[in-house]
Amino acid sequence: RELPADPSDAPHIRQVLGACYSHVRPTPVRAPELVAWSREVAAMLDLDEADVSSSRFAEVFAGNALLSGMAPYAACYGGHQFGNWAGQLGDGRAINLGEVLNGRGERLELQLKGAGPTPYARRADGRAVLRSSIREFLCSEAMHHLGVPTTRALSLVATGEEVVRDMFYDGHPQAEPGAVVCRVAPSFIRFGNFEIFAARGDLDVLERLAEFTIARDFPWIEGSPAERRSAWFAEVCERTARMVAHWMRVGFVHGVMNTDNMSILGLTIDYGPYGWIDNFDPGWTPNTTDEEMRRYRFGHQPRIAHWNLLQLANALYPLFRSEAPLQAGLDRYVATYDAESRRMQADKLGLAAFTDADLEMTDALHRLMTKAEIDMTIFFRALARLDLDAPSLAPFEDAFYSPEGREAYGGELQAWLEGYAVRVRQENRPAAERRARMDAANPRYVLRNWLAQQAIDAAEQGDYGLVAETLEVMRRPYEEQPGREHYAGRRPDWARNRPGCSMLSCSS
Ligand code: AMP
Ligand code: MG
Ligand code: MG
Repeated sequence: RELPADPSDAPHIRQVLGACYSHVRPTPVRAPELVAWSREVAAMLDLDEADVSSSRFAEVFAGNALLSGMAPYAACYGGHQFGNWAGQLGDGRAINLGEVLNGRGERLELQLKGAGPTPYARRADGRAVLRSSIREFLCSEAMHHLGVPTTRALSLVATGEEVVRDMFYDGHPQAEPGAVVCRVAPSFIRFGNFEIFAARGDLDVLERLAEFTIARDFPWIEGSPAERRSAWFAEVCERTARMVAHWMRVGFVHGVMNTDNMSILGLTIDYGPYGWIDNFDPGWTPNTTDEEMRRYRFGHQPRIAHWNLLQLANALYPLFRSEAPLQAGLDRYVATYDAESRRMQADKLGLAAFTDADLEMTDALHRLMTKAEIDMTIFFRALARLDLDAPSLAPFEDAFYSPEGREAYGGELQAWLEGYAVRVRQENRPAAERRARMDAANPRYVLRNWLAQQAIDAAEQGDYGLVAETLEVMRRPYEEQPGREHYAGRRPDWARNRPGCSMLSCSS
């Protein structure tokens, strides 16, 4: 069923009622050119280098050709954006090509992002710019290699066409090169896919979608319908908690945690104006649209995830007709996040156990890192190299963003390190084991905002080499990579206030 078209809209743009998705074909582009691809994701799909280098590959993953069996569609979903119900959103520029069953029996969905408008495109063009596509491609893969649950990226194809965006910073519309990313995940279903049907009172479709999701994506859950739904919601809560704990561990700020950007599988999804913490600051958000409210700031992410789960619980309520199982799921979120967060902090500090006193020690460290402007990634990596018998600031000299911060807070940091050394020595564990555990929790390399921007600057000049090199470094984030030290450096001064390196708009 469709609402009568608004004559001012393109004819295919519409409210879609009584359906979870719409069939839609990608809009072909002028000159597909493969910019980058992920060998691990290709392998997951049983594709080899020869498959990927064929011109057919670029055609298919730009949306110019379909392989037999592909039945492309765009999904209908709604969402709470910045705390407010936004109505129908949907895949406005994402088109699912279909599912792949690989040789190991794993089922994966392929989704093109930027492949042209769909019924959900509202007033937008269905396209994506090269800049944001590079960011999505690199970050999906970097997050995976960091051990963070995420959607993956198979390919990045330049379209040979221009896309016009309001560049937020100079106020002028600007033509930029366009691109299409192929995302890969077992499911792209979001909290918002359920919310839209609850909001419309379409409980029949809501129930069918929930049953479909449990059967397809959570096949291990068994029992009566009521038991299965309760176990399912609790598992969604638990997965979301684990995901956010990982974000906090690696210093990732999603930037737009609207409920339409929350995966039912607890995967990081929709890489837009995300950012990475350089100088530790729980109040930081990369998203210029969120500069005033800072709703999606780094330190607020655990609470926002909980709020988002509450919206999902509200949407699912008609299927439960009882609060208890939903409340139990939300409680599971709190308990899981608390346990994961403690374990993660213990790993970062190299402690076997984590007590309430350790929590105070960590809070004090975070406050100190914030006011002294200390780089999160460099600091924690260096902490494993502290001489516990003679703690000094020597391993941390590179972590300070200003000589003033070093001058004003060096003494306080020295005192903290001495207390920390005492605490670690109490545990009396082998140094090598402790260091290995810390190095597995504290990455040496993360996709710092300025690193992505450098790759983008080169790509916009036609040189895709830095995209490939950056991906290569991010494939082994916990290993020392001789000759690649500059990828581990703190944000250079030029990047402090540069668009793309500090703040990003949603325009992508
Ligand atoms: P996001 O802020 O990226 O989560 O997007 C919110 C909604 O806007 C989703 O429904 C997107 O599909 C849609 N959207 C964003 N950019 C475009 C675009 N260029 N064309 C069509 N739809 C878009
Ligand atoms: Mg989105
Ligand atoms: Mg987006």
